[in-house]
Amino acid sequence: MKAAPCPFCGSHETTCVSRFGSAQLLSQYYCQNCSSFFEYVRWEGEGERQHREEGEDACPNA
Ligand SMILES: [Zn+2]
Repeated sequence: MKAAPCPFCGSHETTCVSRFGSAQLLSQYYCQNCSSFFEYVRWEGEGERQHREEGEDACPNA
């Protein structure tokens, strides 16, 4: 599963810490590389919908 890239340092060493409204597909991530929090929006139509419905992309802390 591809992690959300950190917008600050570009690292993929990120952890999903919370998920907001599913309609907006907005999740909050924590970058372990630069110790920064950021929000990541996953848009519809990226081919991830099936993964989400299967629970493979579910945030473990949601
Ligand atoms: Zn970072």
